[in-house]
Amino acid sequence: VLIGISFVFLLVAAGAAHILAGRTMIPLKRSFSRQREFVADASHELRTPLTVLRTSADAIARDDKNVMSSFSQLVLADMKDEIHKMTGIVSDLLTLARADAGAIELFKERFDFAPEAERIIRMLEPSAEEKNIQLFLQIYHANAIYGDKERLSQLLTILVDNSIKYTPRGGTVIVALAVEESDSGSLFRISVSDTGVGIEAEHQQQIFERFFRVDQNRSRDTSGSGLGLAIAQWIVEAHNGKITVSSEPGKGSTFAVSIPM
Ligand code: ADP
Repeated sequence: VLIGISFVFLLVAAGAAHILAGRTMIPLKRSFSRQREFVADASHELRTPLTVLRTSADAIARDDKNVMSSFSQLVLADMKDEIHKMTGIVSDLLTLARADAGAIELFKERFDFAPEAERIIRMLEPSAEEKNIQLFLQIYHANAIYGDKERLSQLLTILVDNSIKYTPRGGTVIVALAVEESDSGSLFRISVSDTGVGIEAEHQQQIFERFFRVDQNRSRDTSGSGLGLAIAQWIVEAHNGKITVSSEPGKGSTFAVSIPM
């Protein structure tokens, strides 16, 4: 009888827990999706005024009749920088909100990634040169990859841009493309190594979280919103791949991406 009563009690308790869980889960889910919609709507709405601000600032800068003091010219240049940064943040927020909602369609095709990598290196070369950083591309294997060209280029841009940002003057950044055989088939490997500031072990997982930046004070001088690696991780996962980091503080970091071919 006792066993029977205990069993009934357990069943009732489990049922109550289930109902409770059900009751709390639904509003929680709803509030997540509301938050997502809010972020998507807000970032979408912010794009137009930002475009207007950017074109207005450009128009002021171009106006020949406008004789500006050197102070005003500096202020205008700062304004343009900030508008540029904010446009980037808003666009990253919109990407993540859309990705969460499953509203981003990937256009996967088979393409040669090497020319894309070369293009990205050319594009980022000036910012590396500014810091006297040597930027290398090593292509061990130029096999075609199957994926979304634009998104995979965005991924490499984020990683190389970060390496340049977090590497002191005179350092080195190496991008390598290779193909690796694994138990589950061929993997396309992209790695980005730098001789930068490195990341402490305790932060190596957190850096992929949204808005997380190691040591806000140190990062304050370096532009960024803490959204880049969250987007990078989403792109890799959307290609069924993996992204890992190995790093030693003060020595440098290597970000390694592997994507099934
Ligand atoms: P952001 O660069 O905009 O701050 P990310 O999401 O791209 O945002 O990166 C998150 C944080 O991870 C950075 O703020 C930085 O602290 C750290 N990080 C990223 N890449 C590197 C790197 N190559 N070397 C050292 N730290 C890095």
